[in-house]
Amino acid sequence: MSSTTQPSYPVKLWEMTRRQFREGIDDGHIQGVIVPTGSTEQHNEHLAMVHDTESAVHVAERAAQKLYPKVIVTTPLAIGVSEHWMNHKGTLTTRPDIFAELLYDVCDSMRRAGVRHVLAVNGHAGNAGPVRQRLDDMRARLGIDFEFCSYWEAYTPDIVKQWMESGNCPAHASEFETSFALAAFPQNVHWEGVDYATAKLTIRDPDRARQDRLYHEEAKLATAEKGRAMSEVAVDWVTAKMAEMMSR
Ligand SMILES: [Zn+2]
Repeated sequence: MSSTTQPSYPVKLWEMTRRQFREGIDDGHIQGVIVPTGSTEQHNEHLAMVHDTESAVHVAERAAQKLYPKVIVTTPLAIGVSEHWMNHKGTLTTRPDIFAELLYDVCDSMRRAGVRHVLAVNGHAGNAGPVRQRLDDMRARLGIDFEFCSYWEAYTPDIVKQWMESGNCPAHASEFETSFALAAFPQNVHWEGVDYATAKLTIRDPDRARQDRLYHEEAKLATAEKGRAMSEVAVDWVTAKMAEMMSR
C-alpha cells in the first residue's frame, strides 16, 4: 500500500500550531481543505462505532499527504445524522439542520482564515441527504468553492465486482467496511466474544433485522487485502477531486 510506504506529513489542522497554519496561509501554500464527516453509530456486533469517522479521516489524511503541502484536513464531524440506528443503544445522532449548520460553520471558519477550496469527504451515508438538500444554500452563503462527496462514490460497479465477494458496497458494517478497518485500523475489529445468535438485539423493523443479519454474515468475508485495495481507490479519487478543485 503506497500510503504506508509514503512519508507521513503533518496535515491535520488540530495537530498544527497556529503558527504553522498561519504561515501556510500567508505564504500561499495551503490552498485547499478537506473536512471529514462521519458518525458515532452502531456498526453491527464487531466493528467500533467510530468507523465512519475514522475511515473518512483516513481517506482525507492520505489524500492531503499526496497533495502536501497544499491541503490540510480539519477536525472531523464525528457525530452524524443517525436517527435510523437509534434502536441500537449507544448510537449518537444529531438533527439534519444541526449537522449541516455545523459543517457550514467549519467551512466558514476556513473561509475566514483565507481558504478558497473546501471539500467535505463523508463516511456516513445518513449525512449525504441532509447536506445535498442544502448544498446550493450553503454554497451561496459561503461564497467559496465548496463540494461534498462520500468517499465510496469512487467505486465503479467493476471495482465492487473485482473486490467485494458479497457484491455489496458500501453496505453497513459488512464486507467493505470491515475490510477497510482490517487494513487501516485493525484494532477497531472485535470478533472476539461475538455471538450473533444469542445477542440481545433490539431491532424492531423486520427488514432491518434481516439486513443486519445478512451484513453480519457478509462481514466475515472481509480481508485486509480487500480493504487496502478499496481504500487506495478512494484516496486516489479524493486526491484527484481536491486537485481539480484547486485548479479552478
Ligand atoms: Zn459505517
